[in-house]
Amino acid sequence: MEMSSASIQLPTVVIIEDEPAQAELLSYNFSSENYEVRVARDGEEGLLAVREDDPDIVILDWMLPKLSGIEVCRQLKKSAETRAIPIIMLTARGEEGDKLRGFETGADDYVVKPYSINELLARAKALLRRTRPASVGELLQHGDLELDPGRHRVLRNGMPVKLGPTEFRLLTVLLERPGRVWSREQLLDRVWGHDLDIDFRTVDVHVGRLRKALHQEGAADPIRTVRAAGYSLDYDG
Ligand code: CA
Repeated sequence: MEMSSASIQLPTVVIIEDEPAQAELLSYNFSSENYEVRVARDGEEGLLAVREDDPDIVILDWMLPKLSGIEVCRQLKKSAETRAIPIIMLTARGEEGDKLRGFETGADDYVVKPYSINELLARAKALLRRTRPASVGELLQHGDLELDPGRHRVLRNGMPVKLGPTEFRLLTVLLERPGRVWSREQLLDRVWGHDLDIDFRTVDVHVGRLRKALHQEGAADPIRTVRAAGYSLDYDG
């Protein structure tokens, strides 16, 4: 248990909710479910928090001071950097028209207040299963590669692959989104964490180690180096 939480980066959530008691309840429950939580108390602060943190999911209240939830949602879905982050809107009962507008602005799901916290957590998990499957314990498979986050095990062509913790996290990130091109900066954020001041070349070193560990006689290199851009797990293996 401890091993898997140390090797898989925990999912991160930004909660944008102005009512202190609600924010507290959400923060407590998402923390208990092993999310890394950041709370913002108004729309402007929320927008800033999402842009800074690049979280895995956003819980967004409809009625907010400074910038409404719908406007925050619209701006996040308009920007290429934040578009893919799933958003769950919290709406008030009976706002059918509002709900529809919520979906037009690109919210991925919504719950109606007063909501059941367990239902909200279940919906958040369902969205993460699509976008960060390893963070909720899902087995990752692509080509001849298989990674089991819970058991901390990697197989290639059915053969066990031995990886250090950094290479394991790196492969997890790549396997969660096959075909996506990751910049070195994005990989640093995902694999090493936001706050560390690490040279970009560190990424190259660990990609090199990962390639070496995954190498098998006659099998293709699953990692593509994209010139001037970064790396991608991209092969037909
Ligand atoms: Ca509110």
